[in-house]
Amino acid sequence: MSILVVGSVAFDAIETPFGKTDKIIGGAATYIAIVSSYFSKQVYLVGVVGGDFPMSVIEDFKQRNINVDGLEIKQNEKSFFWSGKYHEDMNSRDTLITELNVLANFEPKILPIHQQAEFLMLGNLAPDIQRGVLQKLGRRPKLVVMDTMNFWMEIARRSLLETIKLTDVLVINDEEARQLSGVKNLKHAAEAILKLGPKVLVIKKGEHGAMLFAKTGEFFNSPALLLDRVIDPTGAGDCFAAGFLSYLSQQHYISFDAMKHAILYGSVMASFCVEEFGTNGIMYLTQDKIQERYQYLLKTTQV
Ligand code: AMP
Repeated sequence: MSILVVGSVAFDAIETPFGKTDKIIGGAATYIAIVSSYFSKQVYLVGVVGGDFPMSVIEDFKQRNINVDGLEIKQNEKSFFWSGKYHEDMNSRDTLITELNVLANFEPKILPIHQQAEFLMLGNLAPDIQRGVLQKLGRRPKLVVMDTMNFWMEIARRSLLETIKLTDVLVINDEEARQLSGVKNLKHAAEAILKLGPKVLVIKKGEHGAMLFAKTGEFFNSPALLLDRVIDPTGAGDCFAAGFLSYLSQQHYISFDAMKHAILYGSVMASFCVEEFGTNGIMYLTQDKIQERYQYLLKTTQV
């Protein structure tokens, strides 16, 4: 089924204990669209880049069957730029630079083809822009999944709460869940966040896995894959959310049980991402590689 992806398409500069990159390709929507393309032949990317963004990357999106009609190119402006540095444990990071550039006045181009999308992934963006996309869609998609980050909690909290109210599934990390709710205990934080509107909350805990909370009271806890090689966690959250949503896009019925499997697919896609810098870990996957990791995770989490 079709997946509409909205979010940043960017340049990133990353520093981890394993090395440092110059400007490389990044952005929430970049990671999400690439991961989604392994699950669906109908992925629609909506974003904006500057004239400095390489056409070869846009060509690569097309090769992957990612529809880029909604990717606007502002020739005389610069692409969004983000720079971050990871701490020794790789679970936390500091943002060094956020240059919004083209994102500062971003108005997502929602085209008639986007109106058919059944699944909407609102990647990390200003919450009023995320909400604007929902408002521009004539009919509500079957499932709306949303990501956000501490940056928006700090500078646009009120708008963020309005957007959260309209989403079905909110996907954030443990630190963000504590910050959003103001509560340290994660169970209580989840209860408080579910009261803000979403039907389902996913809390990611990096190498410690992820938790799924539903308004119905149902709960699921999954470990992450234990990896030999963790080089760069940038984009892992986006890959996780994309694996989660894209798996659900293949299901006839979105039950809590389906979401449990979706969490495992999220962990699998994130595991590929962290093994290389930037998007390198997710560029050349195969269905066999994805299935092998999924089966391994399933086998090692069942009693
Ligand atoms: P993640 O590691 O999953 O949180 O996602 C990292 C990606 O988010 C990077 O590729 C950045 O380009 C992008 N990003 C960082 N800050 C922002 C922001 N304020 N708005 C939109 N995208 C962002």
